[in-house]
Amino acid sequence: MSMCEHMRDRRVVVAGAGYAGLTASILLDGRVGLTLIDRKGYHEMLTRAHLVAGGIEGVEEDVVPLNQIIKGRHSSVITANVKSINLNERRVSVSVAGRDDECKDVYYDYLILALGSEVNDHGARGVREHAIPFRSMKDALNINQRLKRVGDGARVTIVGAGATGISLAGALAEGFGRRRRIRITVIDALDDILHGWDGYMVGRVRELLEGDGVEILTGRKVVEVGDGYIVLEDGRLSSDMVIWAAGVRGSSVELVPEVKRVNGGRIAVDAFARVEGYDDAFAVGDISALRVGDGGYAPQLAQSAVRQGYMVARNLLKSMDGMAMSPIAYRKQGEIISIGSRCVGSVYGMRMDGELCRYVEEFIAYNYRRMLQGDGSALLAYEDDPVSAALTFSRALSYVSARYMLSVLSRLYGLYATSMEGSIGSSSKRGGGSSSSMCGFMHSCLEMINRHGR
Ligand SMILES: Cc1cc2nc3c(=O)[nH]c(=O)nc-3n(C[C@H](O)[C@H](O)[C@H](O)COP(=O)(O)OP(=O)(O)OC[C@H]3O[C@@H](n4cnc5c(N)ncnc54)[C@H](O)[C@@H]3O)c2cc1C
Repeated sequence: MSMCEHMRDRRVVVAGAGYAGLTASILLDGRVGLTLIDRKGYHEMLTRAHLVAGGIEGVEEDVVPLNQIIKGRHSSVITANVKSINLNERRVSVSVAGRDDECKDVYYDYLILALGSEVNDHGARGVREHAIPFRSMKDALNINQRLKRVGDGARVTIVGAGATGISLAGALAEGFGRRRRIRITVIDALDDILHGWDGYMVGRVRELLEGDGVEILTGRKVVEVGDGYIVLEDGRLSSDMVIWAAGVRGSSVELVPEVKRVNGGRIAVDAFARVEGYDDAFAVGDISALRVGDGGYAPQLAQSAVRQGYMVARNLLKSMDGMAMSPIAYRKQGEIISIGSRCVGSVYGMRMDGELCRYVEEFIAYNYRRMLQGDGSALLAYEDDPVSAALTFSRALSYVSARYMLSVLSRLYGLYATSMEGSIGSSSKRGGGSSSSMCGFMHSCLEMINRHGR
């Protein structure tokens, strides 16, 4: 006899409130009976984690409690650990964080499985014991705190030169490199950084990082991490701090019966993201191995996770209305990476650098935050039709233009203030009123944009 308390409720259960699960939940909230389960009770914008690690952005901007987002009358949020899922009995067994002996069963009519991924040590020894993971905002804060304590000249090694490791290297170089003269090395087993990315971006990012004094070692496989050292296949390095950002594997949550897993523990799904063999269970985001046009799998990235979550929720609503579901298409819209407060990107084939790139990146985060705040129109960005694309494009254009204008105005005002100071000297008291009100206005505009935009 199960010791679990039974909580039978015919509804949609979403397991995991990351990019995929939360986007699905936002679309379903208020429309179906929804139960969202996550062990953390809050959502974190992991795409900003490197900025938090580098001390460039505050964590409070990037973490939102789930009960501020999911508010429907027939919705509930459960903060608990998913222990196992019985696909035949449509049952999710959870335990409240820190109380493993107390478990509950939550029953579903439809399941959206969105538990993300976990650290992949690629067979290297000592990773769990000696390397610092970079998988969450907590990890980002931990890295930030530790870097504040290490001595000048300390050697920090980041293992993994994918987007996560590279953006972290950029943020740490900006936040700590010069100030504390920390020496940063990025190592990867593959032949180049940002494997599979546009050649222009790879070259430009290398240039920026090397300009910041970051050492990049590619084609070097790490086989062991120890206390103060790293063993490579062809040598050994000393390192005061090792951060592991070398790829992920699908969440290893227990499924009964176990289903087919491919490509690093990811769950095999059909074109609608249904777990193979089950019409009522979907897997989305990092945990899912969704096939895409080129025969590969959808990338384990936020943009792909958000889109899958959105499409699956929309399909569910359609099928509940007796309509046919649409296959989940994934079209890469581009890549943007920030190197500290600088940025390199390629969106719809358009290469960008500098301010333009930064403002486009800010717009993506701004639009996502608006979705979290309940602005339904922000969801248009994840639709596939031309009208939604045109509307999103025009919003992006206004955002970027406003941002540009403010930046030009603030520079002009800076020049004006400096020249006034120089030429008027003590008589500046006369113009002081208008000058300080102008300054106040500029500051509030910039603050407003920053608050909403980042
Ligand atoms: C540090 C970092 C930086 C990144 N930067 C970028 C970037 O700049 N751009 C980009 O596109 N992608 C980036 N990624 C990748 C991107 O964040 C992931 O692809 C995306 O988060 C996947 O979304 P998901 O919903 O599948 O999983 P997640 O967002 O990881 O969400 C999974 C959720 O499930 C919960 N969960 C997991 N297991 C359990 C359990 N057993 N019980 C209960 N809850 C559980 C977790 O608490 C989490 O909320 C980054 C990833 C990391 C770790």
